[in-house]
Amino acid sequence: DSDHTASISGSTDSDRTPVRVDSQDSQVSDTETITDGHRWPRQNSLSMREWDIPFEELRIGEAIGTGRFGTVYRGYWHGDVAIKVFKMDNLNDEKALDQFRIEVSTFRKTRHENLVLFMGACMSLPRLAIVTSLSKGMTLYTHIHLRKDKFNMNKTTIVAQQITQGMGYLHAKGIVHKDLKSKNIFLENGKVVITDFGLFSVTKLCFGNRKNNALGIPAGWLCYLAPEIMRSLKAHQSHDDELPFSKASDVYAFGTVWYELLCGEWPFKGQPPEAIIWQVGKGMKQPLANLQASRDVKDILMLCWSYKSGDRPDFIRLLTILDKLPKKRLARSPSHPIHLSRSAES
Ligand code: ADP
Ligand code: MG
Repeated sequence: DSDHTASISGSTDSDRTPVRVDSQDSQVSDTETITDGHRWPRQNSLSMREWDIPFEELRIGEAIGTGRFGTVYRGYWHGDVAIKVFKMDNLNDEKALDQFRIEVSTFRKTRHENLVLFMGACMSLPRLAIVTSLSKGMTLYTHIHLRKDKFNMNKTTIVAQQITQGMGYLHAKGIVHKDLKSKNIFLENGKVVITDFGLFSVTKLCFGNRKNNALGIPAGWLCYLAPEIMRSLKAHQSHDDELPFSKASDVYAFGTVWYELLCGEWPFKGQPPEAIIWQVGKGMKQPLANLQASRDVKDILMLCWSYKSGDRPDFIRLLTILDKLPKKRLARSPSHPIHLSRSAES
């Protein structure tokens, strides 16, 4: 499976990384052109069969929880699965629906150990649902913010390396996550599993008719948003406006996750949304004076949180930086740290 090892092995060999297709930031259309040098036929939405799981085939069990998009259920479809049923209230927006279908069709190309297994989707209105493998572990959010688990520096680094590998892979496939946060990162027996990549655009369908709720900002979301997104939040409030998500804004969000792992809390903790939007939009960062960590570790935060998106490293570069962090009492080959730590588990 050469297309998916390419981006990973590239991380240990920085000379090779520029060859990868990275030129256009983001959306779906360019994912058709990447992978192993082929130009794949551009699909059009009418010919796609990405709505390939009939809703009737799903056995829906108890609700696990509710998020911004709808409710996630435990379910059964050829084994235990998680079923995310979208709460639709804007069924007439055909354009948004098509965009979403195209995006979903790209998830099927994702095959990476650190990404949730995408099994399929129901795309027939009015029931939109996404079926993935069921994560047995807890999210980083639960570990950090609810259980107050402390991660030592080695564990923090290993978790971050795995996030970085999964994200590097997604970006190599042309998929921008848009909603990277500790709630969307599961930890299963020490293995990181990232969920909900690329689903953000469905918010248009789910909450398109939202009336009041000025900015529509869910709690715990703001601190992942890069300055350029903060600024467009302020400027535009209509649901039709695209927020400028990009690979670089994913890297900013990763910086926040790195901060959560290090500090056990979110940046700008306890501050009202307006204050956070104003500060970040102006280029201010959470002060790190109270953070007990080495220069290298703090530098990663500063790089990821760079005001200008162009100053942020990509995930390939981040992995190189993480690999160079000093390790304590772990006999791991510097070039293949994750590989070895996994084989130790099995
Ligand atoms: P959020 O990510 O903001 O928590 P979601 O709608 O994505 O909201 O998730 C709702 C709940 O379902 C959360 O508790 C989440 O941990 C859980 N969940 C989501 N995906 C899965 C999955 N693949 N396996 C197990 N639980 C999941
Ligand atoms: Mg989620």
